[in-house]
This record gives sequence, structure tokens and C-alpha cells, in this order.
Amino acid sequence: MSGKRTKRVFPAVAQIFYSLYQNLTGFPSTVPTYLTAQAPPSTYPPRLICSVCGYWGHYKCRRCALPFCDLNCESVHAETRCERRVL
Ligand SMILES: [Zn+2]
Ligand SMILES: [Zn+2]
Repeated sequence: MSGKRTKRVFPAVAQIFYSLYQNLTGFPSTVPTYLTAQAPPSTYPPRLICSVCGYWGHYKCRRCALPFCDLNCESVHAETRCERRVL
């Protein structure tokens, strides 16, 4: 037995990936592909997300300014994760 390790390369799979890569790079630069497609920055202000449950956070903690959505989440926030930072 020699110490040579056989490479486990599956030619068909490598070929598929190569052709996919060529598909992505073969277009002129004006054509968006999976590699170049991007959206312009949002024109809306960032939404507040409740720091407890992940729902829309319509309110902000008076002490640390983290958003929360209702009184339930406010009490959970105050008891468990409020850092009481004064902003
Ligand atoms: Zn919530
Ligand atoms: Zn807080």
C-alpha cells in the first residue's frame, strides 16, 4: 500500500458546477446574475422588531430603548433582558 490517497472527485458533479459558474459569469456586466443582483437601499426607515418575541415592536423601553410590542413583552423584557442603559 502506498500512501497515496485517492481523490474523491465526481467528474459529472464538477462539470455541472463548472457549467453553472460559466452561466453566471458568461453574461455582459449589465445583465444581473445570482452573483451580481442587488437591491437599492430601502427608502423606508428601519422597522422596530420586538426584542422579546420578534413581532413588530411599536414601543421602546424607557430605560434601554430596545423595542417591544406590548405590555407582556415589556414585562418580560424588563425582568429578563433590560440592560437599563440610559441613552
Ligand atoms: Zn413582543
Ligand atoms: Zn429595557
